[in-house]
Amino acid sequence: MRLDAVAPLRTATAGWRARGERIVLVPTMGALHAGHLALMAHARTIGDRVVASIFVNPTQFGPTEDFSRYPRDVEADLALLAGAGVDAAYLPGVETMYPPGFSTRIEVADLTEGLCGAFRPGHFTGVATVVAKLVNQVGPDVALFGEKDYQQLRVITRAMRDLDVPVEIRGVPTLREADGLALSSRNRYLTPQERAVAPRLNAVLSRIAGALSAGEPATGPVAEGIADLEAAGFAPVQYLAVCDADTLAPVERVVRPARVLAAAYLGRTRLIDNVPVAPGT
Ligand code: AMP
Repeated sequence: MRLDAVAPLRTATAGWRARGERIVLVPTMGALHAGHLALMAHARTIGDRVVASIFVNPTQFGPTEDFSRYPRDVEADLALLAGAGVDAAYLPGVETMYPPGFSTRIEVADLTEGLCGAFRPGHFTGVATVVAKLVNQVGPDVALFGEKDYQQLRVITRAMRDLDVPVEIRGVPTLREADGLALSSRNRYLTPQERAVAPRLNAVLSRIAGALSAGEPATGPVAEGIADLEAAGFAPVQYLAVCDADTLAPVERVVRPARVLAAAYLGRTRLIDNVPVAPGT
């Protein structure tokens, strides 16, 4: 079922809810790949009804970012969603999400100050606002997000908790290519040469995670990792950091769950990735 407007969406979800069915929302920006489909598959296992949204949200792109060239392929996406057993594909237009006079924003402090937030001013405000709207429109029991966008997952979890929105936010581990590259809609921008270099990002993060869980402090492995990425051709490396898995505060020694996170450009393409670090035993 394809839906483009709030009223028919609410009719569908109200019917499911009245029958006691558990609804799972998976928000996306389309250009779907196997990583998105892993979210859909997980949604099927935890709910009775799955709603996937596709909305390329203009407010989360900066003025110099790739909003206008962001990949869009609605027909292919709808075929993939049908194959994934999704009950409703929700594709609101910009005028549905941002009607004339729209003037409300959800701003999450501290969690958004570092990492991607430092390089993408306004990005997480756009994300938190659109996710709040999607959750209010669909009324899901659970909304699923990929750990691939780890800061986004933390920001959304915090915003929904702070605003008492009755939804459970859950993260799903990152799906990767065999060589470690995290699946991303933006990977299709990469030239063959860049694609060959791209897995280095995950290799560097994994190496740092190994050193940290063996008890090393972060500074040395992080400096080596930045040098390694720059030597491989990443420019600029916007950040490479070790952060607490919940608060995203910088961490020097890992004594509770942490995350190694990075963002770096390969040519014109901005890649992000992160891996978990378990405290050593
Ligand atoms: P996007 O369309 O890029 O906004 O992504 C939609 C959702 O899919 C977000 O929650 C992402 O974190 C998630 N996602 C993107 N890539 C992956 C991946 N490789 N593995 C798991 N989830 C992903």
